[in-house]
Amino acid sequence: MNRRTFLKKMIGAAIGLSALSLFSYGSMASASSKWNNDELFIRENDFEFAEEPQKREDTNRIIIHHTGLPKDRDMTAAEIHKLHRDRNGWAGIGYHYVIRKNGIIERGRGWNMVGAHAQHHNNDSVGISLAGNFSVGVPTNAQIKSLENLLVALCGLYNLVPDELSVIGHRDVNSTACPGDSLYAMLPQIRTRVLKRMGLDLPED
Ligand SMILES: [Zn+2]
Repeated sequence: MNRRTFLKKMIGAAIGLSALSLFSYGSMASASSKWNNDELFIRENDFEFAEEPQKREDTNRIIIHHTGLPKDRDMTAAEIHKLHRDRNGWAGIGYHYVIRKNGIIERGRGWNMVGAHAQHHNNDSVGISLAGNFSVGVPTNAQIKSLENLLVALCGLYNLVPDELSVIGHRDVNSTACPGDSLYAMLPQIRTRVLKRMGLDLPED
C-alpha cells in the first residue's frame, strides 16, 4: 500500500457522522471535533439560479481560486453571483465557497452541486474562491485560516488526502493566472498544515 492509499484509508476510518450531517444541513457551526474544526462557520446564501445546477456525483479534488479582476479587493458571494449570472450568462455563482477578506466563509453554489469554476473539471471538484487578486496582492491571514479550516472539513468529508493531486490551484488544470502567484506559492504550506490538522503528518516513505 502506498502512502497516499494508506492516508486515504485513515481518513475514511476517521470521518465522523457529525461532519456529514452538518454539511447536509447546510449551515454548520462546527465540523466533527475529530478534525479540530470547532470554529468553522459558513454563512448561508440562498441564491436564485437561472437553472438548477446538477447534483455532483464525485468529488476528487478541491480547486482554489481568487476572484481576480483588476483590483485586489473584497467581494461578496452575492456580487459574484450577479456577475456570473448576468455578465457570464451562467446559471449563477460558479464557486461553492467564497472566503471574504475578513475570513468569513460564504456559501456560493450548493455544496453538492456541479460548479462552474474550472473548465472540464467541474463534475468532480469543489471550487473555493478567496476574495482578492493575488497577482497583485496577498491573501489576509484570516482568509488563509478560514481556507485551512474549510479544507480540513472538506478533505475529511470527501476522503481526500490534502496533497498536490487533490488540493490544487486553478492554474493546475486550466490556462489561467488564477489563484495568483502569491496564493499559489502558499499552497504547499497550506497542504502541510491541513494534513497535520487531520492528524495525518506521517513521515515520507
Ligand atoms: Zn480560478
